[in-house]
Amino acid sequence: MRTPNTFVILSLASVAATLASCHHAKPPTKVIKLDEMVIEGKQPEPPGPAEKDITLAEAGVNASWMDRGADPCGDFYQYACGGWMKDNAIPADQAAWDVTKVMEQDNETALNQILVGAAKTTTDAKTDPVTAKIGAYYAACMDEAGIEKADAKPLAPLLAAIAKVKDTKSLVAALALLHAHQIWPLFDISAQQDFKDATQEIASLDQDGLGLPDRDYYLSDDQHLADIRAFYVTHVEKMLALTGMKAAAAKTAAADVMRIETAIATLSQTRVERRDPYKVYHRVNRDGLAQLAPHLGWDAYFGAIGFADVKDISVNSEAYWKGIDALAGTEKPAAWRNYLTWWAVHALAPRLSKRFVDESFTLRQTLYGVKELPPRWKRCVRAVDEGLGELLGQPYVQQKFSGDSKTLAEAIVTHIKDAMAAELATLAWMDDATRKVAQEKLSKMVDQIGYPSKWREYAFDVSPTDYAADALAAQAFEFHRVLTKVGKPVDKTEFGMTPPTVNAYYDPSMNEMVFPAGILQPPYFSKDFDDAVNYGATGGTVGHELTHGFDDEGSQFDPDGNLRNWWSDTTAKSFKADGACVSTQYSAFEAKPGLHENGDLTLGENIADIGGLKLALAAYHAIRKDAKERLVADGFSEDQQFFLAYAQTWCTNARAEQEEVQVRTNEHSLARFRVLGPLQAIPAFADAFQCKAGAAMKPANVCTVW
Ligand SMILES: [Zn+2]
Repeated sequence: MRTPNTFVILSLASVAATLASCHHAKPPTKVIKLDEMVIEGKQPEPPGPAEKDITLAEAGVNASWMDRGADPCGDFYQYACGGWMKDNAIPADQAAWDVTKVMEQDNETALNQILVGAAKTTTDAKTDPVTAKIGAYYAACMDEAGIEKADAKPLAPLLAAIAKVKDTKSLVAALALLHAHQIWPLFDISAQQDFKDATQEIASLDQDGLGLPDRDYYLSDDQHLADIRAFYVTHVEKMLALTGMKAAAAKTAAADVMRIETAIATLSQTRVERRDPYKVYHRVNRDGLAQLAPHLGWDAYFGAIGFADVKDISVNSEAYWKGIDALAGTEKPAAWRNYLTWWAVHALAPRLSKRFVDESFTLRQTLYGVKELPPRWKRCVRAVDEGLGELLGQPYVQQKFSGDSKTLAEAIVTHIKDAMAAELATLAWMDDATRKVAQEKLSKMVDQIGYPSKWREYAFDVSPTDYAADALAAQAFEFHRVLTKVGKPVDKTEFGMTPPTVNAYYDPSMNEMVFPAGILQPPYFSKDFDDAVNYGATGGTVGHELTHGFDDEGSQFDPDGNLRNWWSDTTAKSFKADGACVSTQYSAFEAKPGLHENGDLTLGENIADIGGLKLALAAYHAIRKDAKERLVADGFSEDQQFFLAYAQTWCTNARAEQEEVQVRTNEHSLARFRVLGPLQAIPAFADAFQCKAGAAMKPANVCTVW
């Protein structure tokens, strides 16, 4: 599992990643003054606008998703999503099922149609290179007979290199080969913007090489995690046996893997530590790296991965690199061969024959509670999106994000920025010097909507009959593309997700927000929805990403994306105090008896949820200020529609195992708390639904930062 230490902040719990190009939005020029909306006591009451009756469906709210029997002031999540939860059982091949998964499913169906057509196309690569390439990749992935026939053969070149490991020098050579295919035993390497000089790209060396999701899985006394460890050892053993290892050897090898990974886990930083940019950024040059880890032969490593000239590097922690350097010497070459073999087969298994795919899937089953392997076509759609995302994105965007959708989404972003400008102008806890920089940061914030302005090219050959080779070629290409950035100025035209991705992000080093076309689909967004729904759903997401620029992590990066403290001590102090209140609020949420949300781990996301929704509401109120009529949808006021739309973007059913992994490892709170937390913190919600003091949705203490 790849965990880059760049601070890209994703909006949703599910994560995808790749990269390409952008347009710069102009900084907002119009500032909405929220205080204009306050009607002074002396003025006569203006006549209220007329009411117009519409239906919830016309507005864009799903009435059947609601549970009208629930008390909106008691549990608004149940009220908005109760019907959806009842009607949407978790499919057997999924760990959780939510609104974004339904969107992904719709996307996958559309993408599959595109790919089935592309695989059959008779046009050659010269006339239509995009169609030819995605068609060939998909055809190779769908060719089950060919994949069965190849069986374990695609592993052979990797295993041959691993078999040569007899000392640290040959260990480094094997590591370099695996890394150059984005397979990450022991550590990973990537490019990142230098935290202290955001115009430059440097190399990033980071902790990695754990087959389980987090260090806790190796180190915790928790019985559930101990059970998973026991399963894991037998799983590793079975996977190694599939490569042809004898039973006794596979047993020894699995013990080696567990021992090495436990040692790596002990050296690894916790997820909470990794949220602190100062803890994961330590810039060194090649001499400095050689001093930290003298036995790992860095000249040979950088030469072997094809980047001999890399000079400037950030390492996540000094302790990690000293630790793995020592580990390289204390573990025997045979143990390293076993560990690397496990990593090769673990990484490539999903691209191999059925016996590999099935055994590999049991790990996912155990960790996340997924019951069934997704059908082949779905796995192949995802594979093309991973390998050739910006080629597949081109026909997708033509089909699903045409014409005025982009203009409309851009207008929402502009209005949310305007609302933030208004909030900044009046915010009481921020002193003027800090306020000035915050305003500069907002005005320099870039957004990219839908798809990149310049599509990436994929300069490698794809065979319609060799799936594993295609996948390895795609991974090698991506590795090379990323590392090529090191030592060069930052390319501000990159798009960090593929266009069909149902997600969004804020990148503090870039000071930019990105919203792929995939998330700008119903029920988040439609040009046919009312503003209340577009602002509650997509506006909430935009506000969330924007707030990341000013949350506990974003506040450490300045308007140009440099890691620099631009907050005065007093402002930082009140921010911290308000943050502590939010942390306490969320730590009180219980996922299951005894398992609480980690308010510190999820702090940035929770602040962004609360602040983002407040901004969306302010932006919505501003655009409706002079509206001639109020839309009443089946009796629901505009504000009520807004909150319903927000809550319905989070409708979720999740398996207990999945919730447990998320609570322990993810920076995002569980979906129901992402509804309850912000709505409890925004008094306008209790007003809209006339909740009485003491109701669960109208707590006495309200925590809010932005
Ligand atoms: Zn977020």
